[in-house]
Amino acid sequence: MIPAAFDYSRASSVEEAISLLGSHEDAKLLAGGQSLLPAMKLRLARPSMLVDIGRLRDLSYVREDGNVIAIGALTRHHDVAASDALHDLCPILSYAAGEIGDPQVRHMGTIGGSVAHGDPAGDMPSVLLALDAEFVARGPNGTRTIASRDFFTSLFETDLHQDEVLTEIRVPKTGGRGWSYIKFNRRAQDWAIVGVAALNGGAPAISLTHIGLTPMRAVAVERALADGADPETAAQHAAEGTAPPDDSFASAEYRRELAKVLVRRAILDAMSS
Ligand code: FAD
Repeated sequence: MIPAAFDYSRASSVEEAISLLGSHEDAKLLAGGQSLLPAMKLRLARPSMLVDIGRLRDLSYVREDGNVIAIGALTRHHDVAASDALHDLCPILSYAAGEIGDPQVRHMGTIGGSVAHGDPAGDMPSVLLALDAEFVARGPNGTRTIASRDFFTSLFETDLHQDEVLTEIRVPKTGGRGWSYIKFNRRAQDWAIVGVAALNGGAPAISLTHIGLTPMRAVAVERALADGADPETAAQHAAEGTAPPDDSFASAEYRRELAKVLVRRAILDAMSS
């Protein structure tokens, strides 16, 4: 399919991107184009203007910042997966980035695009939610930091304003915490039918991919684990509060049962890693 007509402008700085976003009320940023362009071809998105930030290389980095690792929003999935710093200090994130799509998608798609798109089937959003990541956004009124728990508001909706650019993702160093990300799909390059991120050590953190309108924390499971339940018992709470989609890949009921199985496996995996 051919997208509807649109204007195009390439920004040479974040400030210019913000100003261009302000010039059209339905202007959208273009990063890797791996989600936005397919949506435009299907006419699910019809922005009148695209502001291309894909060449803002100073937004592509992974660096340590005290107890945190700062990741530029334009860092490609491939570079997140290949980052030595993340591999050593926050391995769940580099592992999950390597599970996204196929090599072409990973070389084009960006972590910031994944977060801003707010797709509940995306791998990065739920892993970042388990990590209690923070998102830094810059707009005409300055910079603000948004907690991941407050960021994903509904289906493909986030707390970002139309004229804001997500510039950085900040994740804690997980140190010696056990971790697991299990993505259940039919073929290696497919989206998750259901995914589970788990962190062990400290307060247990479990989050779910593709199980509702947004990525979500499995709060009832976390509470059960904190109260001393064993993984099998705690995992029985995995579907509480979820509203999984019913689609050609799996029914909602199947996803609910799958969530319980995968949560149990992810907790055990995190405990043994
Ligand atoms: P774009 O498509 O350029 O933008 C997406 C949205 O985010 C747009 O609304 C855009 O305006 C906004 N945006 C982008 N950057 C910013 C920013 N810095 N600040 C504010 N708003 C911004 N993802 C998975 O998680 N798992 C998968 O298994 C998977 N499989 C895929 C398979 C295929 C065949 C394809 C095409 C994509 C797949 N994806 C998958 C999606 C991929 O991860 C995308 O890269 C990602 O969702 C969007 O990143 P992008 O840089 O391409 O963003």
